[in-house]
Amino acid sequence: MLCFVNPLQFRKTHPRKLSPHGESVTNARTESAAVESSYAIVHRSIELPLDSSLMLRSPTMLIDTHTHLDDARYNEDREAVISRARDAGVETFLTIGCDVATSQAAVALAERYPFIYASIGVHPHEVKHVRDNWYDTFRHLARNKNVVAYGEIGLDYHYNHSSPKEQRDRFREQIQLARELALPVIIHTREAQEDTIAILKEEKASEIGGVFHCFSGDAWLAKEALDLGFYLSFSGILTFQNAAPLKEIAKTMPLDRVLIETDCPYLTPVPYRGKRNEPAYVSQVAKQLATLHSELSLEEVQRTTTVNARRLFKIA
Ligand SMILES: [Zn+2]
Ligand SMILES: [Zn+2]
Repeated sequence: MLCFVNPLQFRKTHPRKLSPHGESVTNARTESAAVESSYAIVHRSIELPLDSSLMLRSPTMLIDTHTHLDDARYNEDREAVISRARDAGVETFLTIGCDVATSQAAVALAERYPFIYASIGVHPHEVKHVRDNWYDTFRHLARNKNVVAYGEIGLDYHYNHSSPKEQRDRFREQIQLARELALPVIIHTREAQEDTIAILKEEKASEIGGVFHCFSGDAWLAKEALDLGFYLSFSGILTFQNAAPLKEIAKTMPLDRVLIETDCPYLTPVPYRGKRNEPAYVSQVAKQLATLHSELSLEEVQRTTTVNARRLFKIA
């Protein structure tokens, strides 16, 4: 159990509180394949010195809507990573849960920093570990005001770390839970487009809305996502040389339905390929979007994607 300092001046506007504790799950993803792969459990703490100077930086216009800031790869320099992102104009971050431990860690980070928000839920790779009490734990975590989304949830038939049937069953249950909690959903889908859309429709996910994170699907999925009222979130994949089809899709997306993310520590964008990814680099995704939407300035892309994220996650 960790104790986190939460001075009054760092409180967000809502009154709910929680005493979180954290352990971490780590993705081991091959960047070249631009995909997520298996998780290795890493037990650790995320206790940090609190740097109040982080609060003093002027807010700018980027929101990294998908980070794994609890990841063990940040254990040595998490504070510096966050500081660099703030310096690069990232005003707000979402840090994402993939199981109970990482959801608790995400909430703990969000408790610590007023500009970090959390999501909770079970990644499709991890759903084989779901136990009876997990959903009640998520219900409890969701009472924390910093929890603004449910996910990442979905289907990943590329790795099948959990069986496809388990993935589908837990995906449905978690959409139902997100509806109960009135939280938008963060969707992870890989090689499972049709099933993902079918389940989202059957479970009436459009009532809560959400985002296809790290979008790398085809034009059909993009259209279905928009028809459901969902957002598409582009990551560093958009900067990759071999991402021509994705760039074509990004060009045609209405910008008011687009978010940006790093999915750090994975999927490092050009020109930082080969390095660990971090939220500061979300600016590269915005730049690439502005290049693709040549009718728009970089400032318009930054402002619009930020407004979109605020709207979807209801953050001030
Ligand atoms: Zn994902
Ligand atoms: Zn992720």
